[in-house]
Amino acid sequence: MRIDRVLANNPGPFTGGGTNTWVLGDGSGKVVVIDPGPVDTRHVTSIMGVVGKRDVEAVLVTHTHSDHAPLANPMARDLGVPAVGHVPGPSFDPDIRLLDGAHFDVGSLDLTVVHTPGHSDDHLCFRVGDVLFSGDHIIGGSSVMVDDMGSYLASLEKLRGTGLQRLLPGHGEEMDQPDTVIDWYVAHRMQRHEEVFEAIAKGADSTPDIVEVVYADVDSSLHPLAARSVQAHVTLLIDQGRIAYAGDRVVAVSQTS
Ligand SMILES: [Zn+2]
Repeated sequence: MRIDRVLANNPGPFTGGGTNTWVLGDGSGKVVVIDPGPVDTRHVTSIMGVVGKRDVEAVLVTHTHSDHAPLANPMARDLGVPAVGHVPGPSFDPDIRLLDGAHFDVGSLDLTVVHTPGHSDDHLCFRVGDVLFSGDHIIGGSSVMVDDMGSYLASLEKLRGTGLQRLLPGHGEEMDQPDTVIDWYVAHRMQRHEEVFEAIAKGADSTPDIVEVVYADVDSSLHPLAARSVQAHVTLLIDQGRIAYAGDRVVAVSQTS
């Protein structure tokens, strides 16, 4: 097995140093490209330089966000291979749709699909042996924006204790000791969850107010992004019966945590 990373040229507040495009090969000349990123002809040239004389079998995406998927269809079309993902999205239409537990052959490699909703509903991780291409479910060096907190936490639990040794994320550096990383992710999320509850218990009753309290130490340019995660915490707190809507405001209905 050979794995190469090609960094897309899209650094920014939401993408860190840029999107990691992964080229996964079986060692006998067959490869797949995972998360080609935004449409960018120079990035295609870089990817194909890494592919070299090997044959690209498919272009896969972990999810359909704009920093991961838009190049997949045009690149797959040019190469005459399928674009592969979970479901269609804003800038992606898969030729092959993969469901949880599906297997996808990369030459002699057996790639297993793990549906990991939370960051987005359509998020997949790809597992080969003890290596996981984790997309934006788990990234290097920070937490991720979460759309659905209950699903997200369940998707972390789904991976814990499954014998993983390496995480290859959609952003940031690769990680070893995946279970330790997952423990940190869960602990961080539960801490944020309690901070959101505490903010509401102390009177913050709208998403912007909660963001101001909970993300006081985070640059305000990132607050719109933080608002999505706060909304996900609020939804989970409502599901848990700890807060309730009063009109369009939220109030704590329980003082215990
Ligand atoms: Zn991303």
